[in-house]
Amino acid sequence: MIHLYKYIVVTGGVVSSIGKGITAASIGRILRSYGLSVTAIKIDPYLNWDSGTMSPYQHGEVFVTCDGMETDLDLGHYERFLDVDLLGESNITTGKVYDAVIKRERKGDYLGSCVQIIPHITDQIKSMIRQIARDSNSQVVLVELGGTVGDIEGQPFLEALRQLRNEEGHDNVMFVHVTYVPYLRAAGEFKTKPTQHSTKELRSMGINPDMIICRSELAINDALKRKIAHFCDVDQEAVINCPDMSSIYEVPLVLNQEKVGEYVVDRIKLTAKPQDLSEWEAVVRALKKDDKIVSVGIVGKYVELEDAYISIRESLKHAAAHLGVKVHIEYIQSEESLDDDKVSHLDSLLIPGGFGERGMGGKLDAVRYSLEHDVPLFGICLGMQCMVIEFARLHGMENAHSTEFDPKTPYPVIDLMEEQKKIKNMGGTMRLGSYPCNLRQNTHAQSAYRSSDVEERHRHRFELNNEYREELESMGLLISGASPDDFLVEIVELPDHPWFLGCQFHPEFKSRPNRAHPLFVSFLQAAIRNKESP
Ligand code: GLN
Repeated sequence: MIHLYKYIVVTGGVVSSIGKGITAASIGRILRSYGLSVTAIKIDPYLNWDSGTMSPYQHGEVFVTCDGMETDLDLGHYERFLDVDLLGESNITTGKVYDAVIKRERKGDYLGSCVQIIPHITDQIKSMIRQIARDSNSQVVLVELGGTVGDIEGQPFLEALRQLRNEEGHDNVMFVHVTYVPYLRAAGEFKTKPTQHSTKELRSMGINPDMIICRSELAINDALKRKIAHFCDVDQEAVINCPDMSSIYEVPLVLNQEKVGEYVVDRIKLTAKPQDLSEWEAVVRALKKDDKIVSVGIVGKYVELEDAYISIRESLKHAAAHLGVKVHIEYIQSEESLDDDKVSHLDSLLIPGGFGERGMGGKLDAVRYSLEHDVPLFGICLGMQCMVIEFARLHGMENAHSTEFDPKTPYPVIDLMEEQKKIKNMGGTMRLGSYPCNLRQNTHAQSAYRSSDVEERHRHRFELNNEYREELESMGLLISGASPDDFLVEIVELPDHPWFLGCQFHPEFKSRPNRAHPLFVSFLQAAIRNKESP
């Protein structure tokens, strides 16, 4: 058990969406290359308890941890960059903090005191952070505060983090402020004033950043760094530039060149081994290969916002790198019907998870297209359910459907799980998190995984209706994965199709840049075969 944890707090300034999560995750990756154990915390100052009930349009993908928490997508970046499994507690929200404090107040834990933001809310925040440090038993704890400095919702968190530094000591907590340095084309120069202002705002909360990471479109020069160091009162070697990169996986290498690791190791007195970033460098090299391109069409309804399918996109990139090819992804809006000419140029199709009737039409069209043209199709969660529905319809079960969309369907091939029938609340009540799945021999699934039992993460209420299982099997649908008690169907496929596989779980949450997920690899292999077939 570690007794002294080191905390790196990452705040953001100037504008949002500058890749604060990627920056923080990259610092973590660099520290891992010194042989240090690292965990990460994402603080989301919104009032929602978790991300589960938020629309992907609001917040991008909902990431699911192994213990079944529906979290911010930054946890996905952390898992991929740090190569760790995080627990759901790693996503702290205002909702969770206040909920915990109010529950304690109701129990009478505050012994008659007036419950206030300082000290009760701030104490709760610190105790949650320290609990995660203990549970993960990692030497370094990255704490990313969502939003930008100056947001009203972020203030109790900044105050708690300021207190954390006083309590844990200057040598054990450091602050990294990520800002944006815009380039004004008309003036022909970079502008440091927004960085100066947001640092001033941070300092007004009692926090002096130890390092400033300047995001910018193009690289900034040393004179500009000196200016920022001078005006923002940080060491010159602690002003770091991170210009836009073509791939997020290059960010750890860029920050490493800027000597972020050396500065951090020294500043919070970490006991580091000699650095070895070679595994990551190999990943970046593999991701850059582009001599052979294979295409995938993602057929979904949130395609305008790429962040909605971020883990799927990254899983495809990992699998492509593993196979030495580049993946070209096209996003296809499933609300419109899917004419053949929209997809005929693609090597493969993928239907991601989703909720609600809207966009079902295009997804079912994609299934039919795959069946008629022998094009590889990967269905994930709702995608698998679409495969079952359309397969049933094409085999004579007219108007077969999921009761999610048509409660009166004559063939409810997808139906609500028994334990879901009594549930009224929407938040955190799906079948969530990791569950075991047994695989059948001599199937696409088993030969992809090269294993007979696996564990995958889930997020759904509906399932393949067992009453139709035998009939669907007699029509040729192969159930290649099921729960160990054989009660829940987890994977379906077609033996006589090049690659038609749907899984009820979300394999995309387990793919890592250095460990591509077997199902994504097998799927892309089939896409390559399809591309190369005459
Ligand atoms: N809406 C479907 C269900 O609840 C699928 C969910 C999903 O794709 N994540 O079962």
